[in-house]
Amino acid sequence: MTLGRTPLLLLAALAAAAAGPSFAEDGADLVLQHGVFYPVQPPGRVEGSLAVKGGRIVYLGPDAGAERFRGPRTRVVDLAGRTVTPGLIDAHSHLLGLGRALAQVDLTAAPTYEEVVRRVREAAAKVAPGTWVYGRGWDQNLWPGQQFPSHEPLSAAVPGHPVWLTRVDGHAALVNAKAMQILGIDAATKDPDGGRFLRDASGRPSGVLVDNAMDVIGRLPGATLEENERWLRDAARHCLAVGLTTVTDMGVDGGGIEAYHALRQAGELPLRAAVFLTDSQPLLDEWFRRGPEIDPEARLVIRGVKMYADGALGSRGAALLEPYSDDPGNVGLLVTPGAHMEDVSRRALAAGFQVGIHAIGDRGSLVALDAMEKALGGPRPEARFRLEHSQVVRVQDLERMARLGIIASMQPTHATSDMPWADERLGEGRLERAYAWRKVLADGGRLALGSDFPVESADPRLGLYAAVTRQDLEGNPPGGWLPGERLTREEALRGFTLDAAWSLFLENEVGSLEVGKRADLVVFARDIMSVPEAEIPRADIDMTVVDGRIVHERGRTP
Ligand SMILES: [Zn+2]
Repeated sequence: MTLGRTPLLLLAALAAAAAGPSFAEDGADLVLQHGVFYPVQPPGRVEGSLAVKGGRIVYLGPDAGAERFRGPRTRVVDLAGRTVTPGLIDAHSHLLGLGRALAQVDLTAAPTYEEVVRRVREAAAKVAPGTWVYGRGWDQNLWPGQQFPSHEPLSAAVPGHPVWLTRVDGHAALVNAKAMQILGIDAATKDPDGGRFLRDASGRPSGVLVDNAMDVIGRLPGATLEENERWLRDAARHCLAVGLTTVTDMGVDGGGIEAYHALRQAGELPLRAAVFLTDSQPLLDEWFRRGPEIDPEARLVIRGVKMYADGALGSRGAALLEPYSDDPGNVGLLVTPGAHMEDVSRRALAAGFQVGIHAIGDRGSLVALDAMEKALGGPRPEARFRLEHSQVVRVQDLERMARLGIIASMQPTHATSDMPWADERLGEGRLERAYAWRKVLADGGRLALGSDFPVESADPRLGLYAAVTRQDLEGNPPGGWLPGERLTREEALRGFTLDAAWSLFLENEVGSLEVGKRADLVVFARDIMSVPEAEIPRADIDMTVVDGRIVHERGRTP
């Protein structure tokens, strides 16, 4: 658009907008009154009202001061003393993965095979014939007789949809006749190395696939656009209900991005999503050529690249400098060459992208930080490079992260999930610098908190609770695991709001309740900043607001 062709009316409107919104005429869109607000920036607590106009915060202060923002069309919500925080931000999550997980039929604790079939039939009835139905969690050890199932009852109940049901341990799957037909599994199919197709007396496959026989799933086409869109919609709704207003999607391929674009264009992305590209050559070539995608409304932001330095601690894949304490010959696995991580980091930086490198062991962290440091060439906090998980990091590397401005992207619930066995893997000396949130802060580093959902629950109340207690939900261990690393509630809240926003280039838009920022916020039934710690996970989320719109209300579907 050139200025010469701009209609006068539009110029007048632009001039009016530049002068600031006028409250005298129609007032604010939304006023939340009689509340307790934790703005995060500035730190502290404010009793009173918050007003929103045009999706942004225009007032936060005493109730009396909000009077002038009330107009005939203002929606006024009386909070009656309830608590408001900025909308919570998950700095490391997988939105698409959550949708996929939610879409699977939950078969855990099914007491009979008949119950498994019933749950699958019910789920299949909700989707078009021909659509794959996935489920997980069945365990024949819970059923009478404890025999592996045969596909016939399942195939009879669900003839029109291919079905794939993963066993509770992930090492076997049950498929129906339709699925076997599509996958080309029949009596002539040979067992692969390291895998087996269970068979009946006459040699016909029973539908149970063990270990490497499950590799046939690789023959399936990837998710369709429609499936991806549905998963994103369902996952977004799930997140809003637990108070998340901004999430990440760490490592998305071209098909996933297509679904994000489709939802965004249809105006159906109800929260903010920051998408990190997966480390694939053609995808990165394309995006480094065209540059980051920065949404003026900050709904969909694509300006990150996700890489992997090593594996995970649970499976002893995290790369350590010294062998695992419970596996003396094993130092874990480096999964990406340092030179590749350095090259991608350089190209990302030049193209305006940030990188987030998964690093769990101290050797993985060292290699990832070396690669990032070479690409950065020195301190560059504005680049927002991130070390994902940062679970075991040498003391000098934590200092290096603070010096270079590399963000520690950490997940409090990983610590409390891993604590039952982490000491066996790591041993005393190393444990002291594991999941070391407080050391990050003490070094002057930046801590962005998240959950890694669907690996952990998406519920940020669980993350806040784990961050301040380092205990499981039963309150164990007493006093907390490595309690010196516990965060204060203010630090934990900042990690799930403003510093998470910083880690996504969104700190000027969201992350605090400040005048001028987008009105993303959460109304809690109880004051999560002062209730006993054990009650943090149970503080009801009464309302979630994005851009000044109430997008979730407890007990109501808006
Ligand atoms: Zn992850």
